[in-house]
Amino acid sequence: MSDFSVEFRMPKGCPNCGNHMMKVSQEKNPDDRVFCTSCNTDVCAWADAEQILAETPRSEAEQLIEDVMNNKKPSTDDNH
Ligand SMILES: [Zn+2]
Repeated sequence: MSDFSVEFRMPKGCPNCGNHMMKVSQEKNPDDRVFCTSCNTDVCAWADAEQILAETPRSEAEQLIEDVMNNKKPSTDDNH
C-alpha cells in the first residue's frame, strides 16, 4: 500500500499547466502513475518518467528550458 508519494522534477513539463514538479508513489513501480503536483493531471507512468529522466541530463534539461523561455532555436546542425 502506498500512502506516501515522492516529488521530483521532470524535464518534460505537465501538458496541462506546464509545471515540472511531479509526484509518484514511493514504491515507484513502473506502472505507477506520475501526477502533476500543481493540477494533479495524470502525466505518464513512472516507467516513462524514469526514461525521460535517464535520457535527459539535468544541465541539458535546464538548457532546453532556457532555450524555450528565450524563444531561440538551438543549433541542431550536427550533419556535416
Ligand atoms: Zn499540471
